Amino acid sequence: MISLLTPHQTRSNPKIDALAARTAPGMAHFAGTGPRGETCGHCSHFDGKHQLCNKFIELTKAQRRRGAPKIKSNLAACKYFEPKPTTTKQKFARERE
Ligand code: SF4
Repeated sequence: MISLLTPHQTRSNPKIDALAARTAPGMAHFAGTGPRGETCGHCSHFDGKHQLCNKFIELTKAQRRRGAPKIKSNLAACKYFEPKPTTTKQKFARERE
């Protein structure tokens, strides 16, 4: 991610910088601020077909196909994470991962 700091600004909070470095454009919030071990691929806001975060689209009012950057399913979940409804079989498979 491109740093927003210039040589004339003081350094911001290192924790925020670390979160921002892990976060991809198109995510609704900082990666890793959601439940531990969860990923975007397990979130109900994730559109796997188009690789988009619907929460990002809602918050930014980005146009679905043109304005929203694609994200990867393996990114650490953000604070807006909501689990996808799963079948019992999928739940057991995830617990074995
Ligand atoms: S965890 Fe969910 S809401 Fe957050 S960026 Fe990933 S898909 Fe979007």
